[in-house]
Amino acid sequence: MIKLISKTIALSVLTSFSMLKSQSVKEILKQKGSFRKDTVFSVKSDSKETYLPVTIIKGKEKGPVFTIVAGIHGYEYPPIIAVQELLKEINPENINGSLIIIPIANVESFQKRTPFVNPLDQKNLNTAFPGSSNGTQTDQIAHLITNEIISNSTIFLDIHGGDASEDLLPFVCYYDRKDAAENTKKANELSVKSGIEYVVSYPYTLKSTDQSKYAFKEATQQGIIALSIEAGKLGTVQKDNVKLIKTAVYNMLENSGTYVNRRSKVSKQKPTILLNQQDYIRVPENGIFYSELKSGDKVKKNQILGYITDKFGNKKHDIVSQTTGIILYKVGTPPVNKGETLFCIGYNQ
Ligand SMILES: [Zn+2]
Repeated sequence: MIKLISKTIALSVLTSFSMLKSQSVKEILKQKGSFRKDTVFSVKSDSKETYLPVTIIKGKEKGPVFTIVAGIHGYEYPPIIAVQELLKEINPENINGSLIIIPIANVESFQKRTPFVNPLDQKNLNTAFPGSSNGTQTDQIAHLITNEIISNSTIFLDIHGGDASEDLLPFVCYYDRKDAAENTKKANELSVKSGIEYVVSYPYTLKSTDQSKYAFKEATQQGIIALSIEAGKLGTVQKDNVKLIKTAVYNMLENSGTYVNRRSKVSKQKPTILLNQQDYIRVPENGIFYSELKSGDKVKKNQILGYITDKFGNKKHDIVSQTTGIILYKVGTPPVNKGETLFCIGYNQ
């Protein structure tokens, strides 16, 4: 069961939130005036309790509901720190419409320093959508985001980065949903205007009854304008990626009509590079991975990208690229497991 609980926050008194009165995001958004409200939604399963923190900032004037999510993976720090800075900087006075901000969607993964999964149930929140109201903690958080957050959004932005073991080139992405061409066009426009050089579009073949799995795919399926930023890598904060994310978010807020009166000027933007195809190279066998290449490196078809040895140091596999393109992300640490994505090569066709 999910209890909807909201409260103007003092984060230090979260322990008492189960006593508080329920209030849905929809109810908060309906309230009059311009305000900021920090809220927690309690999530409980098998007597283990956690929560989903949500901030709602409502402006004076009408406008879109722009949602920003960080920390679906709690080990991806640049998105989380960028959103912390946005929370400090954004004033309700400067908002048209509303902002919904989830500063850390997976607080257990963040707090316990667990890559990919929630340590309470060992599930990956980003493959749990649309979630379930009577499942484990991760299922319930996905269900809350699906039903409380996405369904109330005009624009949904989910921010990720390379997790603890992932080396990643910053990019902004969306699904190329052909049967919702207007939304896809807006997602592309916001991506191009984000200031991030690489724009990636993924194919969209989901039927209305298929499980969406990913948060921004769920939003795409619900008919919401949805995007994701990927920036940061290998389990560190990296100031340049924090700055890149913040600049991209401000650019998107401004270009969607959500934000006025920004402090910083838009710096001149490099031309955007669109990558509409991806080639995923999977790990053929458990082992130790070696590669001299980094995210952002250009590779050619038939190029050897690295190799995998067994635990005795014997080479078992050369990793060969099937395409010419750019490394969007790769495993950046030695251990690799059969079936994992070892490289994602982006290219245009
Ligand atoms: Zn992630």
